[in-house]
Amino acid sequence: MLKAKPEAPAKPSPRSEPIVTSPDSSLFEAVDKVPDDTLPKIQQDIGPDCTRCKLHKARHTIVFGDGSATARLVFVGEGPGADEDAQGLPFVGRAGKLLTQMIEAMGLQRKEVYICNVVKCRPPENRTPEPDEVAACSPYLHRQIDVIDPKVVVCLGAVAAKTLLNTTRGISSFRGEWLEWRGRKLMATYHPAYLLRNPPAKADVWKDLQKVMAELGLQLPKKKSP
Ligand code: URA
Repeated sequence: MLKAKPEAPAKPSPRSEPIVTSPDSSLFEAVDKVPDDTLPKIQQDIGPDCTRCKLHKARHTIVFGDGSATARLVFVGEGPGADEDAQGLPFVGRAGKLLTQMIEAMGLQRKEVYICNVVKCRPPENRTPEPDEVAACSPYLHRQIDVIDPKVVVCLGAVAAKTLLNTTRGISSFRGEWLEWRGRKLMATYHPAYLLRNPPAKADVWKDLQKVMAELGLQLPKKKSP
């Protein structure tokens, strides 16, 4: 989402909710696990004309996700913006171009990873998706990640992180730390749209992505000789 949002709030209050992977998480995991699931099946289940939440009213295209169905790395954003809504693909606008550069800096190509969003329809004026919209769409996100079964999930921004980690804590308090989602490594980092507004934060994100690279056994790409 390209709208200016406070991405890096001040230090968390001591009353902040802790990040917990609930001991009962298997109970919740069972809810949206579908036997023999596939990405086309998930897309079919969403359907071409989904009206499960109010975001359907203003959207042009449902933006399901894009990339490799067997990716070792999945990036999860917030929701489509205007460019994504027009093209039906995630992260194709300004923030998307920066994400592509970040992926390439890791020595990967966009088609080798999988990119999707918490909500599949553009929120009007790029506002933050509301809890009922997140609740309607997140079972499909969970299924996407389960089907792809990546080694690492990178949450881009607070909405993705708060959704998958089921927390209200500010992203700054756990960004760059290894966390866990259904037995997979999860790292939350800042959203590329935030980096467009705050370029100095790119250094933090690069540190986070280098940890992801180490986990995936990726080497820094060799600089092309002049
Ligand atoms: N921002 C997001 O969170 N997702 C997109 O697909 C584009 C911009």
